[in-house]
Amino acid sequence: MGRFDGKVALVSGGARGQGGREVERFAEEGARVVVGDVLKDAGEELAGRIGDAARFVSLDVTSPDSWGEAVRAATDAFGRLDVLVNNAGVAGYTPIIDGDVDEYLRIITVNQLGVYLGMRAAAPAIKEAGGGAIVNISSIDGIIGMPGLSGYVSSKFAVRGLTKVAALELARYGIRVNSVHPGYIDTPMIREPMDTMADDLARSVPLRRLGTPSDIADMVLFLASDASSYCTGAEFVIDGGVIAGHSPAVG
Ligand code: NAD
Repeated sequence: MGRFDGKVALVSGGARGQGGREVERFAEEGARVVVGDVLKDAGEELAGRIGDAARFVSLDVTSPDSWGEAVRAATDAFGRLDVLVNNAGVAGYTPIIDGDVDEYLRIITVNQLGVYLGMRAAAPAIKEAGGGAIVNISSIDGIIGMPGLSGYVSSKFAVRGLTKVAALELARYGIRVNSVHPGYIDTPMIREPMDTMADDLARSVPLRRLGTPSDIADMVLFLASDASSYCTGAEFVIDGGVIAGHSPAVG
């Protein structure tokens, strides 16, 4: 018996990275999973590897119509929707002085509007299924600031706030909504712009390593499962201790 037998999950940005691992773990634990992403080849490859329990759907989280199609794909293929993971996200450099406004808006649109649109599209189907869970992927950058990342930090703070509004609005339908706040996680998001910095980043973490997609997937599955049935509107940090404080004298 898997924890998610009979359940259906939709993971945005599910083609690779953290989302990809969450898709694999949901399927391993008995769920049927819809992989929604703009990366068609990677998404189809992952869904194909899982087999009958998975479907890929082209999803651009910035489009309400695209979200409508993704939710329909889940209910058409598997008859219901129980879990949404709003995982898709982008990062980029947007300094306060001379920052590029279009880049700022691109990041806000994917990371912030995308999460709102996802909950707006999926909540009626999850309500129809008798309740379920929404997990929104924010960041430690949704709790503390980081220089150069005004757009990203703003969007991730917004995800934290949106999560609380949704938790309050959707509790009456048996839908729990929580936010997850990863630290430095070893995925293309962190490797592509700064592979050479990965070791330095790892040394700056109290637990002395980058996080893995599995570290995050474990938390996401907990929040999607009945084991967290009294958790809603809450923030779950998985960062190896990065935002616990600072310890300059100890090293
Ligand atoms: P990633 O770049 O490997 O994965 C992001 C996924 O989102 C990709 O598959 C990408 O194609 C998809 N995506 C981007 N724009 C999209 C759109 N418009 N519509 C649909 N899908 C889209 O990076 P990741 O680390 O796996 O990121 C997953 C989430 O975790 C993101 O929300 C990210 O902000 C967050 N996060 C990452 C880190 C980290 O250190 N890697 C830390 C904190 C939070």
